[in-house]
Amino acid sequence: MPTDENADNEAQQNAGPPYQTAKGVHDILPKDHDYYTFIKKVVRHRCRQAGFRRISTPVFEYTDVFRRSIGDTSDIVSKEMYTFEDRKGRSLTLRPEGTAGVVRSYIQNGMNSWPQPVELYYIENFFRYDRPQKGRYRQFWQFGFEVIGESDPALDAQVIYLSNKILDDLGIAQLFTLQLNSIGSSEDRQNFAQALKDFYFGKERSLCANCKQRLDKNPLRLLDCKEEDCRILAQIAPKMSDHLSEESKEYHEELKEYLGELGIEYHENPSLVRGLDYYTKTVFEFWDKTDGAQNAIGGGGRYDGLIELMGGQPTPACGFAAGIERIIANMKREKIRVPQKDDLHVFVAQLGKEAKKKCLPLIVDLRDNGIRTMGALGKGAIKTQLRLADKFKVPYTIIIGITEVRENAAIVRDMRVGTQKTVPFDKVVDEIIKRIGEENRDMYSPGEAIY
Ligand code: AMP
Repeated sequence: MPTDENADNEAQQNAGPPYQTAKGVHDILPKDHDYYTFIKKVVRHRCRQAGFRRISTPVFEYTDVFRRSIGDTSDIVSKEMYTFEDRKGRSLTLRPEGTAGVVRSYIQNGMNSWPQPVELYYIENFFRYDRPQKGRYRQFWQFGFEVIGESDPALDAQVIYLSNKILDDLGIAQLFTLQLNSIGSSEDRQNFAQALKDFYFGKERSLCANCKQRLDKNPLRLLDCKEEDCRILAQIAPKMSDHLSEESKEYHEELKEYLGELGIEYHENPSLVRGLDYYTKTVFEFWDKTDGAQNAIGGGGRYDGLIELMGGQPTPACGFAAGIERIIANMKREKIRVPQKDDLHVFVAQLGKEAKKKCLPLIVDLRDNGIRTMGALGKGAIKTQLRLADKFKVPYTIIIGITEVRENAAIVRDMRVGTQKTVPFDKVVDEIIKRIGEENRDMYSPGEAIY
């Protein structure tokens, strides 16, 4: 009997070339990289402005890091992790989300002795054995940030503000509503979980198979089930807001005041619980205005108990993460274009060995001057090379033939209008800089090292 996965592979292979991407993953082709580059730039810029520093944790961790933090009853741990044994039989898992690794790192690296709160951000790829569909992949990218070490509704408000600001910079904030809820402290949640169990007692038959299973271990998840019957019941189920302690209520009210001060609109959503076990108090998500939770672009919240749960000192924290593939899909939907940093400025065409000898140092010189240059160094006829230049959509082509070698010059051709002029060889670079504009040069500037 073939396994499911073998059957998938067979189906794929029958449909096309023998080797294809594995199910649920995809190549990022050059055109899409322009989006990834742009998004990363915006995230880096806004996070830096807000005092966050970048962290990268390993692609895989010991499985317990995720099991302990995300929780055995979560969908991620129970169904979606890529877990394998290494050669010594240790159980490892490809990271399905960012917070667990960052928290592990905070504890392991003694970050509690750093000035608090520690503000970290990441831009990484993650892995979940999700059912592949539009906007849902088995390898995907997220950016996210965490504020660890302090608890104050003003910090939650800032995390929400920063999330919203980035979506705004990317031109898509208006497509989403901010859904906000408080799931209280862990005692509040225990009380509420009991109230939910009491409510659902005797109604099990109306629940979907998933919820029947979740009722015992994680009844809060029943509130955000997408199945019709479960949704109807969830609407009349007890509300978290009725089970919040005074302290949790005050915290939430204060957060809403700060959001008001920051001019951030939100929608109070008593059913919002988020999929992961570690949240406390504030939870929030950005939902697509047209199809709601199905296409949430990102979410986050406070997780005051997690660091202690993972073996650290009791330390409050909150964070956010958003999916980059979904952001790109929305930017495309809005027809938002991003700078195409890879577009070539110049194509160099040549004819004959002597011309080639002049071309090689010229190409180096052009590139060193920040001009993105492609050279046709094969043996094609000038006409063929010009056709190629057209295909690359370069604005300018430099042509060096036998005459130009003899006259120590080069032809600079404007490909868009078809005009050309002969320029002394040692003036070619200046001529191109003048034409593309000083500000469009692609100069490498690593910044100055401090010794
Ligand atoms: P989560 O940690 O599950 O709330 O995910 C945060 C965000 O990451 C989601 O709102 C999505 O934008 C994105 N995301 C989560 N899972 C996937 C996936 N399988 N494929 C693509 N994006 C995902």
